[in-house]
Amino acid sequence: MNTFSFKIPQTVEFGLGSLSRIPDILKGEGSDHVFLVSDHGLEGIGVVDRVVGIIEDAGITCTRFLDVIPNPTVEVVESAARLFAESGATSLVALGGGSPMDVAKAVGVLATFGGSITDYEGADKVPGRILPLLAIPTTAGTGSEATASAVVTDTKRNCKFSVISYNILPTHAILDPELIMTAPAGVAASCGIDAFIHAMEAYVSRQASPFTDAMAEKAMELIGGNIRKFVADRSNPEAASAMMVGSNLAGIAFAWARLGNIHALSHPVSAYFGVAHGVANAILMPYVVAFNALADTGRYEKIYNFVREGHGPVTSFRPQMLVDELKKLNADLNIPEHLSDVGVTDEHFEQMAADAMNTVNVIANPRMTTQKDLVALYKQAL
Ligand SMILES: [Zn+2]
Repeated sequence: MNTFSFKIPQTVEFGLGSLSRIPDILKGEGSDHVFLVSDHGLEGIGVVDRVVGIIEDAGITCTRFLDVIPNPTVEVVESAARLFAESGATSLVALGGGSPMDVAKAVGVLATFGGSITDYEGADKVPGRILPLLAIPTTAGTGSEATASAVVTDTKRNCKFSVISYNILPTHAILDPELIMTAPAGVAASCGIDAFIHAMEAYVSRQASPFTDAMAEKAMELIGGNIRKFVADRSNPEAASAMMVGSNLAGIAFAWARLGNIHALSHPVSAYFGVAHGVANAILMPYVVAFNALADTGRYEKIYNFVREGHGPVTSFRPQMLVDELKKLNADLNIPEHLSDVGVTDEHFEQMAADAMNTVNVIANPRMTTQKDLVALYKQAL
């Protein structure tokens, strides 16, 4: 068993309609001016106005920064931090999927400690707690509301880097399933698979512990048992609730156990070809699961039981059965089968594999992996 420690210095509020808790949380932090980080997509469907309305109706001033883009860049972080400094706000609300959360965490670092966000690249470079941050996920999801990292794209180096510190973990999170009940099917599918992958990679990670196992197993049970129902009918409140909570528990699991080769490989796919994070992960998933099968210590059968359709005993489980089930899940959810289906070409594979090798995810992967292995996995997935 690995040595392990955990702390979850965060308040989580779950429930349909729990957005109404926002003012109490902000007032509890003594903040009468909040800086809201979100994006124009959420503005377009009225979610930003709804949240701002709840904040302002309680007599709290709200400054909005809505210029977050997918795979947010150093420049986006810096312009948000400038606006924050001018605003006089004393707390942060992150509203959205992973990208607004990444930006809000990064703004929290710069607002509290100054400098450039690249100064904090890597593990444990943030010297103390950032200012109060309330995270409100609108997808299920990245699990970013529960994680201690912010991923930022550096366009100068053409790579993504992470700021990893428990000092940037959001102070509060609100999980309101109503926010995901109007998601388009494609978003629900790719975000839901991503959340499942977070739990699965944490579960087979070399850094897994009994604590992360507990989080990952419950996450896989909730997501595996509900993802098809949820994508088919996002307005199903039970399925939406299961996805929201599952995504959060998966986030807690991977915050402590880290991820693996699926995420290592997917970040360069997004950085080089702009493929959505969840889609890139979902496509890579069966190939990496097949690669890792040699290192399976019996956990594949448990994962299989969380994700398979139907019930009843399974006799003579083989790892390939999990690979096939995950391919079937992708097909059921309309996820493309190959990287070439989403515009990826092989011209950068060597550099992409080198970038992937540079991440902590490869270290946590259950099967020891070389750069050559990663190139081979890209080729298989193409
Ligand atoms: Zn992910």
